[in-house]
Amino acid sequence: MPPRLVVALDLPTLAGAERVVDALHDLDLTFKVGYESFYGYGAALIERFEARGASYMLDLKLHDIPRTVHAAVRSLVRPGVALMTVHAQGGREMLELAVEAAGERAAELGIPAPRVLAVTLLTSIGADDLPTLGLGGAVGENTLRLAGLARAARCAGVVCSVGDVAEIKRSLGADFAVLCPGIRPAGSAHGDQKRVATPADARAAGVDYIVVGRPIVADADPREAARAVLDELGVSA
Ligand code: C5P
Repeated sequence: MPPRLVVALDLPTLAGAERVVDALHDLDLTFKVGYESFYGYGAALIERFEARGASYMLDLKLHDIPRTVHAAVRSLVRPGVALMTVHAQGGREMLELAVEAAGERAAELGIPAPRVLAVTLLTSIGADDLPTLGLGGAVGENTLRLAGLARAARCAGVVCSVGDVAEIKRSLGADFAVLCPGIRPAGSAHGDQKRVATPADARAAGVDYIVVGRPIVADADPREAARAVLDELGVSA
């Protein structure tokens, strides 16, 4: 299976996000709502997704006490929510309750349960930060330990870079999903992404979901840009 394309709607205005949703809504992809769009104009955007029957990911990286995260996930589950994110550092009980809430609320609504993915270590955290956070060991060890915790808590997978996929799949199983940002079609600008891979690299690595933002949403023709990524993935658009 080729990876599924997830388009990050990191745009400052509802009008800008709507333009992209209108251009892409009939392609085989999922939209990603992050902090900028959710806090800025999330309710209006979600209405737009529902009117379009769009699939979307809520990348809200939830991290709070278990009961609060359980309640938040219940409030967030709606038709069209395919994926949600939580911080693995919230601990086992928080992760378990997030997964439980997603399943429970989806069953009440009669819709498929969103897959809960865990963020292990943010990629902005470097080796120098680990001792300041009270974390021993190397970045890779921490990432793998937190991914194992997410798996034990029945999360569907983790967010990681393409370079981490082989080890995560080897240690935790091929069915443990990986979603990878930092994807750049050949020839596009890297922006602030330091370690990048192409859609074809991601496919070869067995990635389940790729996240692409600026190369699509900042393109003069987002639809053509998305179609080019789908073509590179081998998905007929
Ligand atoms: O525009 P670009 O393709 O770089 O967008 C990547 C998206 O993936 C952004 O929404 C960003 O917040 C997210 N992300 C990331 N790196 C991580 C985790 C999430 O770029 N480690």
